[in-house]
Amino acid sequence: MHVGTLSRCSCYPTRVFSSLRCIHLPRNVPTLSTTRSTWCNGQHHMTRASNSISLKSLRCLNTSAISWNSPQLSSSLSQHPEYTPKMSLLIDPTTQANYLQIASENIDFDWTLDFKEEIISGSATHTLLVKEDGVNEIVLDTQALDISKVTLEGSPDPLNFKIGANHPVMGSPLHISLPSSPKVGSKVKVTIFYKTSKNATALQWLAKEQTQGGTFPFLFSQCQPIYARSLAPIADSPSVKITYTASVKSVLPALLSAIRVSPPSDGPAHDGKEIGKDVVTYTYKQPVPIPSYLIAIASGDLRYKPFPPVPGKTWKTGIWAEPALIEAAYWEFSEDTGKFLAKEEEIVPPYRFGVYDLLVLPPSFPYGGMENACLSFLTPTLLAGDRTLVDVVVHELTHSWFGNGVTHANASHFWLNEGFTTYMERVLQQKLHSPAARGFSCLIGYKGLLDDLKLYQDRPKYQRLVIDFETGEDPDDAYNQVPYEKGSNFLLYLEKQLGGLDVFLPYINDYVNTFMGKSITTFQWKDHIYEYFRKNGGDEKIKILDSVDFNAWFYGEGLELPVTPEYDTTLATQAYALAKRWSDSRSSDLSQLDFKFDDLNDFNSNQIIVFLEKLEEYDPLPTTHITYLGDLYKVSSTPNAEIRLRFYENALRDVKSEAAKVYAVEAAKWVVGEDESGVVKGRMKFCRPIFRAIKAVDSDLAKSTFLKHKLSFHPIAQRLIEKDLGLA
Ligand SMILES: [Zn+2]
Repeated sequence: MHVGTLSRCSCYPTRVFSSLRCIHLPRNVPTLSTTRSTWCNGQHHMTRASNSISLKSLRCLNTSAISWNSPQLSSSLSQHPEYTPKMSLLIDPTTQANYLQIASENIDFDWTLDFKEEIISGSATHTLLVKEDGVNEIVLDTQALDISKVTLEGSPDPLNFKIGANHPVMGSPLHISLPSSPKVGSKVKVTIFYKTSKNATALQWLAKEQTQGGTFPFLFSQCQPIYARSLAPIADSPSVKITYTASVKSVLPALLSAIRVSPPSDGPAHDGKEIGKDVVTYTYKQPVPIPSYLIAIASGDLRYKPFPPVPGKTWKTGIWAEPALIEAAYWEFSEDTGKFLAKEEEIVPPYRFGVYDLLVLPPSFPYGGMENACLSFLTPTLLAGDRTLVDVVVHELTHSWFGNGVTHANASHFWLNEGFTTYMERVLQQKLHSPAARGFSCLIGYKGLLDDLKLYQDRPKYQRLVIDFETGEDPDDAYNQVPYEKGSNFLLYLEKQLGGLDVFLPYINDYVNTFMGKSITTFQWKDHIYEYFRKNGGDEKIKILDSVDFNAWFYGEGLELPVTPEYDTTLATQAYALAKRWSDSRSSDLSQLDFKFDDLNDFNSNQIIVFLEKLEEYDPLPTTHITYLGDLYKVSSTPNAEIRLRFYENALRDVKSEAAKVYAVEAAKWVVGEDESGVVKGRMKFCRPIFRAIKAVDSDLAKSTFLKHKLSFHPIAQRLIEKDLGLA
């Protein structure tokens, strides 16, 4: 942990409270470590000067003066000696909204989609709860929105508003003046009329050529982590949960992360009207409070096919895709989705969202999946034709509890979403298949973690599980496998220490029950696990917890985990042996090799992945051998992107080799869809490492390929690839 010093009121505007001494923190201190006595001696109080946060609310962190959405926070703060006094760990560092003073409870969206202009226009009506007396304005986040008017329910005149200066990451705060200060506990209803812009980070408008069908354009959103503000004016923080309704006029079927009210999903497509021409109004309702990053919209030539109902369950599942993909998509996921959801309910409380649908997006979708409420978005690269990549669905539906139910309070605690989800995804593998399947999934994840820890060696802060973001720091800069894999390994370690799944799963259930519907910090999580095991196990379990080096897990940097994990490697043994045989063969002439296509006969695609990943642990194979391997096993031409990626990673490792030169060109064609597939590999899991690998071999090739095809990638992917390639 970095150790810094406290500086007193020197770099921020000074605020002096009559009865309190304040310490202001310099913005550039990476992490402050302070002793408990400094922090909790009852005299020193820390605050952050920011026009968006109620200083009054924060005047003393270790008293009950704080009015977060969690009452436990204030007490937990004073109990932990390791707390860093960095406000970003507690208050969302990526929003400018005054959500601690006044926060939305419900939003009614009224939108019209304009595919020609590529904008959404309409209004957002916020019903807000007043949390503090004396509030005279509402501050919301916006990014590149064109706001025309704001009205207040019950008031004849429009409200005054102004848009603050643009922050490159956080966007522009929208300040709405209230005519009078409403009382604590009262509700305020304002309607904001606006339209989005072409620069909306959350939205990707695809030309018809970029879709499978090639006939109609397509729109989809990606609001996580902080892009909802480019779709609507909103307090864009996971600490604020809202219900919403939406009325969307569109010439193409429109989907939202909510329950369809009308027309029915399983009725005729586009309500029987002409697709692409007639305007249909789609109405939706999301009755469960969700964070802003789960608001989502997609619109295109989409069809629905319900999955078979699961006996005894009231929730419904089904799939949306373009007509050309609907049958393949249905086949890939119909067998498992309901089964997964039902299995999950054996461990955690019942599914709360009523509907769990999947949507297969066009190839530029930057992620494997996105757990938008009621409607997980999926990359088409999951349509492997053999149901081997359905794990992503397990992951996304698991978010219904971890993330969509129990939510991280802000980006610093993102691991509570992804670590828990990844951990539970693998528990489900064990329940559905075998302990070996769980271990195998851990192994694949661990390799990804080690790669990312290496990648972030020059930014060790992002190797941490709990990151103390600066105000306005871009959470996407930290987007890597650490919250997923370090987080899930931490939970796996705790499970093993505390007595295995039989002991740990009841704890998980209690965790979900305790925090369902809330947004929490790592510190609340830690308090709860202690509390639970104090009640369920007593001294013995508390002693075990006391022996855990929580700080090393939370704030540890470097290439290793605090404790090296051990997994069930049953399913990996054959793959490991084959990798070793190839490595041992390096000095033999090709004519003497006895490898056969049949070597992979018994392997499923995950085992082929593990074989190729294991190969990366040895020195790179000579050009002759890697070329032979690629041809023999057809991994240099496979349509399975997961396998193809690993092959290219091997082939490009020895950057000066002939193989690297040849395969860099092939990889460049593959990633932009100039190969036999014709499909861009827009999923960041594929395009980012491939562009980085090509750059190491031939920087000009990487840059020119990307720049020529930049618009085929999602705006989020564009930005991150630009950073990877040194173009930004
Ligand atoms: Zn996830």
